[in-house]
Amino acid sequence: MDGTYSQNDLSHVVDADKAHVWHHLVQHKQFESKDPNIIVEGKGMRVWNQAGKEHLDAVSGGVWTVNVGYGRERIAKAVYDQLLRMNYFAGAAGSVPGALFAEQLIAKMPGLTRVYYCNSGSEANEKAFKMVRQIAHKRYGGKKNKILFRDRDYHGTTIACLSAGGQDERGAQYGPFTPGFVRVPHCLEYRAADQGAPTEGYGEWAADQIEQVILAEGPDTIGAICLEPVTAGGGVITPPEGYWQKVQDICRKYDILLHIDEVVCGVGRTGTWFGYQHYGIEPDFVTMAKGVASGYAAIACCVTSERVFDLFKDDASDPLNYFRDISTFGGCTAGPAAAIENLAIIEEENLLENTVEMGDYMMGCLLELADKHRVIGNVRGKGLFLGAELVADRDTREPAPEAKVQAVVGDCMAQGVIIGATNRSVPGYNNTLCYSPALIATKDDIDQIIAATDSALTKVFG
Ligand code: PLP
Repeated sequence: MDGTYSQNDLSHVVDADKAHVWHHLVQHKQFESKDPNIIVEGKGMRVWNQAGKEHLDAVSGGVWTVNVGYGRERIAKAVYDQLLRMNYFAGAAGSVPGALFAEQLIAKMPGLTRVYYCNSGSEANEKAFKMVRQIAHKRYGGKKNKILFRDRDYHGTTIACLSAGGQDERGAQYGPFTPGFVRVPHCLEYRAADQGAPTEGYGEWAADQIEQVILAEGPDTIGAICLEPVTAGGGVITPPEGYWQKVQDICRKYDILLHIDEVVCGVGRTGTWFGYQHYGIEPDFVTMAKGVASGYAAIACCVTSERVFDLFKDDASDPLNYFRDISTFGGCTAGPAAAIENLAIIEEENLLENTVEMGDYMMGCLLELADKHRVIGNVRGKGLFLGAELVADRDTREPAPEAKVQAVVGDCMAQGVIIGATNRSVPGYNNTLCYSPALIATKDDIDQIIAATDSALTKVFG
């Protein structure tokens, strides 16, 4: 650590935190006897806490965010310069970094043309939901307003996003929910048998399930479908062969808008700029947040096709024919200023290539671990976005108990490596270890992550 804070300063910080901070995702009664983990500094892939303990961060800031790693001076400097020049202006006004980042982003997303700025993944998804609803009112007398979402996917924390949430433990106790969101089955091939699905042609089968829901609801009532390209918190679910093409065909057949939630996969995580680009599909909406500026500033985007954009401007005589929405902090310039540098770093340091190469290496390491530890039932993922599903029994595929999965995470932490696990999301299936190191990860970093996991699995499962 650089010595900016004395031990006295840091003990005061711990006291202040314990007295006043309500932490995300924490059961505070269980937390009372412990000191909070204050992350004081970060550099590259590593962070240091108040005790000066170094950790290798294999989850990019906890939730798949810090894609370019910590301590990037050029991002900090660009934000600093921009804030002094012009920090904020809301509403219809534009900004220099807002215009330039939009241009750079669109250049990486053929078929899409417009960027709508806001602050969080949830908010970006809400924007897309609102656009779908407004299109329904404008074109279909309000009827084509339902939005399909998929079991095990997550789209954010607001009530509408939870209404579109396929992780029931996240939504439990927050109902009643917003009407008009309809669930379709998940596409996790490893769990095909639980769905009564065939093992051959699973991808087509899973897509067919979506069509069945559309037919049951009535195609003229469905406005859009919102899906993660690779499901994140629901268990790192890579789509099965043939799935995406069929989903796109179904959308076209029934005139259903395709909304891809790239909040996790977006901006390099899977080794392409966007996760959907692996599958040759052409979405109408793409939402993104976490990796857009790697957490150096809050920024999220709802990106649309010109076809969608046109629907909000084609009748200037109608006083309601525009998107009547504003995001106060969508007017902050720090986000796009940071995002421009973030993109430049990924390009100049060839981080997409590194993500593919290191992702393949890490996948190989996890498969080797699976040969050694029978508790690893399935390894999946794309790029530097990987998961290992733990099972109590390989034959029955009974999930490993959540407490033991968390014990593996805890033991890695004690060894100085931060990994993640699905947590209080899908009832009964919080059993997947999650890895999403920064896109700068090296073989040495990955070896350290794998060694910690290996040792933790031995301690917890024998
Ligand atoms: N969409 C996905 C796929 C996510 O994983 C998340 C958050 O983890 C969100 C949306 C919500 O993003 P935020 O927490 O920025 O609102």
